[in-house]
Amino acid sequence: MSWWRALQDRLAWLWGRLSGGSRFLCDTCKYNYGNACWRPERPNATRCPDYRRR
Ligand code: SF4
Repeated sequence: MSWWRALQDRLAWLWGRLSGGSRFLCDTCKYNYGNACWRPERPNATRCPDYRRR
């Protein structure tokens, strides 16, 4: 159920923002290392379909 996973990621991101965390998804994304992600929005993505929480 990818919509459920997406919702979880979205809520996790929202929670991070509300609790004073980073406003960028990449900071908590498991693909934010080395060459794992080539998206141009890295490292400052605020929306990303590939985002997965670390
Ligand atoms: S997959 Fe998206 S959120 Fe994750 S590091 Fe790449 S751009 Fe950032």
